[in-house]
Amino acid sequence: MSIRVEAVTKAYKNGPRAVDEVSLEVRDGEFMVLVGPSGCGKSTLLKLIAGIEEVTDGRIYISDRDVTLLDPRKRDIAMVFQSYALYPHLSVRQNLGFGLKLRKTGKAEIAARVDEVARILGLEEMLDRKPGELSGGQRQRVAMGRAIVREPQAFLMDEPLSNLDAKLRVSMRAQLSRLHERLGVTTVYVTHDQVEAMTLGQRVAVLRGGVLQQCDTPEQLFDHPANLFVAAFIGSPAMNLVEAEGGRFGSCAVPSPVEGRCILGIRPHDLKLGPGIPAVVQVVERLGTETHVVAGIDAPRLRSAALADALDASAADDDVLLAEDDRASFTVVLDARAPVAVGDRIELTVDPDRLHHFDADSGNAVDLGALAGGRREVVAPRGV
Ligand code: ADP
Repeated sequence: MSIRVEAVTKAYKNGPRAVDEVSLEVRDGEFMVLVGPSGCGKSTLLKLIAGIEEVTDGRIYISDRDVTLLDPRKRDIAMVFQSYALYPHLSVRQNLGFGLKLRKTGKAEIAARVDEVARILGLEEMLDRKPGELSGGQRQRVAMGRAIVREPQAFLMDEPLSNLDAKLRVSMRAQLSRLHERLGVTTVYVTHDQVEAMTLGQRVAVLRGGVLQQCDTPEQLFDHPANLFVAAFIGSPAMNLVEAEGGRFGSCAVPSPVEGRCILGIRPHDLKLGPGIPAVVQVVERLGTETHVVAGIDAPRLRSAALADALDASAADDDVLLAEDDRASFTVVLDARAPVAVGDRIELTVDPDRLHHFDADSGNAVDLGALAGGRREVVAPRGV
C-alpha cells in the first residue's frame, strides 16, 4: 500500500516546528528510509503516519484514503521500536502470538502464523525460550516477528537496530533487506545512521530541522546531492568541501565550469595520487581494505556561512582537529597498500566530471546544465 504525506506540519507547544510542511510519497511495497541528525523530526514524521501524533496541518493518505483523523488501530500498520519491549515472563511463542490473541484470532490460526513467522526469521529453535535467554539480535528478531505476524499493510520502524552492537547490526541489516524482498510490504524506516540509510533504503528522505532536503535513491543522493547539507551528511568519509573562485582555492586549482565563487565538493574516493593539487600527508589510517589519508593543502580554510552551517548541522567536519594552522585539508581514500607515510609530499588529482559545485550563499547545488546555457541556477527544491 502507498503512503502519502502532503504538506504535513507538526508543531509542539512553544517549540519550533518538528516537521515543517513535508510532502513525501512512499510507493506500494517500497522500503523508504527517513534519515537526518538527531532532532530533525524523523520520529515525529513516523508517529504522524502511525497516527500516534496528531498533525497540526496537512493531510496523510494511506492507499489514497485520507487517514489524517483516523484512529491508529484502524490504519493497519505495525510499528517496531528501538526498545523491543518483549514480555519477559512469556515465551517467544507467546510473545509472537500475543497481539493476535488480543485481537481474538483463533488458536489454530495463531499457531500457524507464529510457526510461519518463526520459520521466516529463523526462530524455530527458540520458541519455548523466554526473552531473557536470547541474545540482543534474537530479541530484535522476535520484536520484528511480532510486527510481521499481524500481516500489516505497512511497517514503520524507528531505529530498530540501534541497540545492537556494530557487527550484529550489519547482519540484521542484511536480514531486514531479505525480509523486505520476501514480504514486499511497504516499510518506512527511521535512522540517524547514513550508512544504514544508504544500504537499506530503496529511496532515502533526508531531513534537517523538520524540512525535507531531498528524497532520492541512494545513488542519486551520493552522486547528485541537492545541497551542501546532503553532500556533507551522506557518504563516509564525508565529502571534501572548499570555497573556490573559478576552480581556484589557495595555490590549488581544478578545471571547473563555474567562473565565480562557489563551494567545490570532492568525494574522498574521487581523489587519486597524480599531478594536480600539492598536499602534505598528515594522517594515514590503514583499514585493511583501503587507506584513509588526511592531507593538508595550500588553501585557506575559508568558510562561507552556508558551508559552516551545513558542516555544523551534519556533524561532518571530521578534520577539525587538524584545523589549527588554518589550512584546508582533504580526506583521500587510497588502496590498502598505497605507498604513503605521514609527512610525505604528494599530489592529488581529480576527474573534473566528479566535481560537485554548490552556491556559496544558498548552499544549493549549481545546475551545470543551466550554467552551460548561460544561466546560473540552483536545483534544490528548498534551501538549506
Ligand atoms: P528525531 O527522531 O529526528 O531525533 P524527533 O522527531 O524526535 O527527532 O524530534 C523533532 C523535534 O521535535 C525535536 O526538536 C524535539 O525536541 C521535538 N519534540 C519531539 N517530541 C516532542 C514532544 N513530545 N514535545 C515537545 N517537543 C518534541
